[in-house]
Amino acid sequence: ATPTAVMVATGVGANNGVLIKGGDALERAQKVKYVIFDKTGTLTQGKATVTTVKVFSEMDRGDFLRLLASAEASSEHPLAKAILEYARHFQFFENPTATDESQHRSNESAMSGWLLEATDFSAIPGRGVQCDIDGKQVLVGNRSLLAEKGIAIPTNVEDFVVDLEENAKTGILVAYDSELIGVVGVADPLKREAAVVVEGLKKMGVHPIMVTGDNWRTARAVAKEVDIQDIRAEVMPAGKADVIRSFQKDGSIVAMVGDGINDSPALAAADVGIAIGAGTDIAIEAADYVLMRNNLEDVITAIDLSRKTFTRIR
Ligand code: ADP
Ligand code: MG
Repeated sequence: ATPTAVMVATGVGANNGVLIKGGDALERAQKVKYVIFDKTGTLTQGKATVTTVKVFSEMDRGDFLRLLASAEASSEHPLAKAILEYARHFQFFENPTATDESQHRSNESAMSGWLLEATDFSAIPGRGVQCDIDGKQVLVGNRSLLAEKGIAIPTNVEDFVVDLEENAKTGILVAYDSELIGVVGVADPLKREAAVVVEGLKKMGVHPIMVTGDNWRTARAVAKEVDIQDIRAEVMPAGKADVIRSFQKDGSIVAMVGDGINDSPALAAADVGIAIGAGTDIAIEAADYVLMRNNLEDVITAIDLSRKTFTRIR
């Protein structure tokens, strides 16, 4: 293709909200054999919602939520935001007409007054969060977090989590003072175009794959909904780039589509890194393409544009 053709293609991309960083990326996209999608925020809307709160101890439901929300208050994770949002509604309905001065304060500060003080907070990437509340250890996260801290998951709790996961939800486990006290179920719906895009890629001869830090069962349930057969789950943040490299081994050209900080090493490792425009700045920086409309259909636009620009018509 001539420099003019590349310029034209870049312009066509821009008009469709597909930002292309350079001619090399534009050229590589035509040869893509695998498209590896991140799950959360890429295939899904990234707007997690709490659907289930189940307490497995004597603790009062309100106290459980308060403890949980207090532990997640310092986390930036979408799951933490979903929990805080739920807790905010809960504490409002607990006392909608507060007669003290708190009624004059914003929702935000009423919430912070309701939360407990958490000390020694730490976020454990790919696992969850840990902190101390009232001198006792609080853990909020997945099985591997609890296993790491030596906390047993009773059979009835495990069964409850499995049921959530089979319904494409993520089960978040909560432990207090070395005991499992409850589970929260979170749902994150698929983007409306996700299944159609996966189908379209297959028709184009491109193989779709899903990669996620979430557990295998939830991953399988979500993959089934979009009809992706090839998945990698329970991948630690650093592992996503390794997944990319494993598909590049035989010389195949690999595209990665992602939105999170977790995805940026994989976006950089991919031959074609595609960031969701609504994603984090680090992901956008690491990528070759940015989808400004946040629409997965533009993954197809990107490949198609490259094919039309570089494939000679015979
Ligand atoms: P993804 O690849 O889907 O973006 P992450 O690597 O961010 O996933 O997280 C993997 C898993 O770790 C989550 O599905 C969740 O079970 C757990 N996790 C991570 N951060 C948190 C948190 N702040 N609260 C609860 N669970 C968390
Ligand atoms: Mg993501």
